[in-house]
Amino acid sequence: MRKRRPNHRLVKIHRNYAVEDVARLFGIHKNTVRAWVKAGLPICDSRRPILILGRDLATYLKDRRAKNKRPCQAGEIYCVRCHEPKRPAGKMAEYQPITATLGNLTGICPDCEGMMYRRTSKTKLAAIQAELEVAFVERERQVNESPQPTVNSDFAKG
Ligand SMILES: [Zn+2]
Repeated sequence: MRKRRPNHRLVKIHRNYAVEDVARLFGIHKNTVRAWVKAGLPICDSRRPILILGRDLATYLKDRRAKNKRPCQAGEIYCVRCHEPKRPAGKMAEYQPITATLGNLTGICPDCEGMMYRRTSKTKLAAIQAELEVAFVERERQVNESPQPTVNSDFAKG
């Protein structure tokens, strides 16, 4: 189960949203929206039901995205579950080539023990190998292969 990141571009900034509206807009649970409010999403006055300005919502989501986009350092891999890059457990990672110049770096998260992924270019491997012990894996077709998030890809920058 992968969570899609709500796209702030769906928000109409001149509209006001009730919690239900936001939930419907992104196909998420109302409790998720309430969690955003608790986490700092501004609401209108103290009126009931809660009303959220489209402009505030768009800004909040944009900021959240930017925060999540913290790029990986050389020795770090992105943990999807913790939503942050960190060093893999045991400083060990596996590199699986996708093409001659591009591959997937995977590791185990030291905190949640989930899989960590990073798309990286072969030219960056040397820097990564200075930080981590990288094992090379042959490319093979995996039945349960699912598209990996590329938010922290080295190619996502500018
Ligand atoms: Zn984790």
